[in-house]
Amino acid sequence: MEDTATVSGRTRVRVLLPLPLAGAYDYAVPAPMAARPGAFVSVPLNQREVIGVVWDPPAEPDPNPVPDRRLRPISHLLPAPPMAESLRRFVDWVSAYTLSPPGAVLRMAMSVPAALEPPTPQAGWVLAPPGGNSRPRITPERQRVLDAMQPGEVHAGAPLAERAGVSLGVLRGMAENGLIRPALLPHRSRFARPDPAHPGPALGGTQAEVGAALRAKVAARAFGVTLLTGVTGSGKTEVYLDAVAECLRPRDGKPGRQALVLLPEIALSAQWLDRFRARFGVAPALWHSEVTSRTRRDTWRAVAEGEAPVVVGARSALFLPFPDLGLVVVDEEHETAFKQEDGVVYHARDMAVVRARLSGAACVLVSATPSLESLTNVETGRYDALHLPERHGGATLPAVEVIDLRRTPPERGRFLSPPLVDAVTATIGRGEQAMLFLNRRGYAPLTLCRHCGHRMRCPNCTAWLVEHRAKRLLQCHHCGHAEPPPAECPECGTEHSLTAVGPGVERVLEEATALWPEARRLVMASDTLPGPAAAAEAARAIQDREVDLIIGTQIVAKGWHFPHLTLVGVVDADLGLAGGDLRAAERTVQLLHQVAGRAGRAEAPGRVLLQSFSPEHPVMRALVSGDLEAFMQEEAAMRRPGHWPPFGRLAALIVSSEEEREADRTARDLGLAAPGGEGVQVLGPAPAPLALLRGRHRRRLLLKTRRDIAVQPILRDWLARVPVPNHVRVQVDVDPVGFL
Ligand code: ADP
Ligand code: ZN
Repeated sequence: MEDTATVSGRTRVRVLLPLPLAGAYDYAVPAPMAARPGAFVSVPLNQREVIGVVWDPPAEPDPNPVPDRRLRPISHLLPAPPMAESLRRFVDWVSAYTLSPPGAVLRMAMSVPAALEPPTPQAGWVLAPPGGNSRPRITPERQRVLDAMQPGEVHAGAPLAERAGVSLGVLRGMAENGLIRPALLPHRSRFARPDPAHPGPALGGTQAEVGAALRAKVAARAFGVTLLTGVTGSGKTEVYLDAVAECLRPRDGKPGRQALVLLPEIALSAQWLDRFRARFGVAPALWHSEVTSRTRRDTWRAVAEGEAPVVVGARSALFLPFPDLGLVVVDEEHETAFKQEDGVVYHARDMAVVRARLSGAACVLVSATPSLESLTNVETGRYDALHLPERHGGATLPAVEVIDLRRTPPERGRFLSPPLVDAVTATIGRGEQAMLFLNRRGYAPLTLCRHCGHRMRCPNCTAWLVEHRAKRLLQCHHCGHAEPPPAECPECGTEHSLTAVGPGVERVLEEATALWPEARRLVMASDTLPGPAAAAEAARAIQDREVDLIIGTQIVAKGWHFPHLTLVGVVDADLGLAGGDLRAAERTVQLLHQVAGRAGRAEAPGRVLLQSFSPEHPVMRALVSGDLEAFMQEEAAMRRPGHWPPFGRLAALIVSSEEEREADRTARDLGLAAPGGEGVQVLGPAPAPLALLRGRHRRRLLLKTRRDIAVQPILRDWLARVPVPNHVRVQVDVDPVGFL
C-alpha cells in the first residue's frame, strides 16, 4: 500500500495536543499507519486518551529526544480531513505572537471534537414495495402520507409528517403494517451553495469601479490587504458581497474558494443575514457562541470538507478548518469587539490578515471609521485602499450639531436638554422616528448616600454598582455580583438616604415616558435584547414603523438600516472621553459617527444632536465637520513623537492574585527585572484601574518599544527571568486595546 511506503523509516512523529502544554510530544507511529502532518490522532497521555494533531517535524532536531523504547504509540487515526498546513502554520503563528502555549491555540482550532467523527447517518422512510398478503387499512391520513412520498426516495420523518399533516405516530403505524419501511437518508450537506451568478444590485458610479478593483484582487488568488472605506450607507456591504461572489466563482479550471466574513456582533446581525440571502438566494453558514452544538459540529465538518462555501462569524471563526480560503472580510474593522481579552489574547482583525497571508487569500478590512492602525498601514503602503465617497441613492449624510450643556442644561434631575426635547417632539410629530443614544445599561451608574456620601461598591471589584431599577438590583458590570438595593445606608444607617446619580438607558426611558407618553418606545440594550431573535424582532418592529422612539446603548450603533429614522440624540457625548485610554478620542469619534450614521438613510434628511459640556473638544469638532480624516491626522501627530501605537509597540503584563501582597511582590520583581535599552521602555508596575477584579488584586506593567523592535523576544526573556508563584497569574497582552 502507498501509505505504508511513505511511513516506513519514520516511526516517530510530533503530536500537538489541545492542552496548555509547552509544545508537541513525540509518539511512535505503529505500522502500517500513515500519520502525516495534519492527521487527527488519538494518543495516550498519562492514563487517558487525548485527540491531537500530527505536527510538522521541528526545524531543529530535539537535543534530548525521548528514547525509542519509552515512546508510546499513536492509538488510532480519526476519520476526519487532515488539518491544512495553512491552519497549522496559523496556530504556530498565533502562539508565537501572543506568547500562548501552542496547544491552547490548537484548542480553538479543534473546538468541536465531535466533528472529528463521521456524521451519523439519519434514518427516514421509504415506500414499501407493493405486495404481501394482508391489505392494511388505508385511512385518509395514511393516504395523505402515501401521496406525499416519491417511489424510491428516502423521506425524513418530521418533514414528511408535517407535509401530510399527520403525527409521527401515523408513520410508525404504517411501518408496522408494512406500508412503509425505515431506510438511511443519503448524506446531504445542510449548507446550500450560494450561487455567485445570482444577480445582485447593479453597482453604480464609484461603486462599480471600486467593486471591479476588489473583484480583481480576489480573482488574483494571492495575498493582499485592502482597506475599504466609505461613509455609512455608501454600499460597502454590497461591494464586498460582490467580492464574495467572485471568490466562489471557478476560475482558470480551478474550483471556487471559500470565503469568511467576520462581524463584530454577529448575534445582532439579522439585517445583514437578510441582505446575504437577498444577494445569494441562500443563507451562509454561521459561527458564533450562540450556535447550537449540533450545528457547530455540522458546520465545522462542512467547512473542513469544503462544503460550507461562505462562513459568517465572530472572531473564533478564524480557527475553522478551511481547506481553501480565498477571501477574509473584516467588517467594522475598527471595532474593539474583535479583541479577545481572555484565554489566548488576540486581535481578530490583525490575525485575519495573518490567516489570509498563510492561505494565499485576499483580505478586506471594511469601515466607515477605520482605525489609525489600518490607515497607517495604507500610508506606509502595506495595505491598498478603496473608497466610496457618497451615500447610495442620493441620501445625504446627517447634519451634526452640538448642544452646549453649559448654556442649555436639562432641568434639575433630568438628562435631556430643551433643544433635544424639542427636536424629538418635532420628529415624532412628523411621523418620523427618533433615537436617543447612551452607552450605559441600567438606571444609574452610581448609588450614593445623601447623608454620609457612602457609595455602593462591588465587594469583588474596584467598581460602583449599577442600579437596574426594573430588576430591583444593584449590579456589578464586571463580575456579575448583584444585590437588592438596601433600605438604609450600609455605612451610616440612615433610612431612604440612597440616591441614584447619573443616567443609564432605563432612566432616559423614564424621562422619555414622562415627556412623550403617547410615543411607542423601544429600549435596545444587551440586557433587554438577549440573543439574535430578540434583536431581529426589534429591527423588524422599527422597520415596520411600530416604534417612534428608540433608546439604546452601543447596540444601536451596529450596521442597522432604519429608513424612517431621522433624528439621533446623543445623551452624553463626553462619556467615552474620560480616563486615560490612549484611544479614547479615536474610539469616541468612531462610535458616535456610527450612531450618527443611523440617521437619514433614506429620502428624508437626518439630524444628529450631541449633548456635550465641551463643544470645543476636537472629537465634537470632528463629528460636526464630518472631517474624520483631519481628526485622524491630528491623532497620528499626537501619537507619533512618543512612539505610541501604531507608531510603536505595546505589550501589557497583568499580574493578579487573590493575595494582594503576592500580586505586589511579583509585580515588583517584574519591575526590577524590566528590560531596557535603546527604544525599549517599561512603565509600572502600578495598580490597574480595576485594581480588584472578581476578587483578584491586579497590577499592570506596560512594555513600550519602537516599531522596529519586536516585543515577543523581549517578553520571553523577561518572563523567563522572574519566577512566578503558583497562585499568581501573569497575563500577557500583546497590542493591548483595553487598559483596565
Ligand atoms: P454601507 O455598508 O456602506 O453602510 P450598504 O451596503 O449597507 O452601505 O448600503 C446602504 C443601503 O443602500 C443598503 O440598503 C443597500 O442595500 C443599498 N444599496 C447600496 N448600493 C446599492 C446599489 N448599487 N443598488 C441598490 N441598493 C444599494
Ligand atoms: Zn464586581
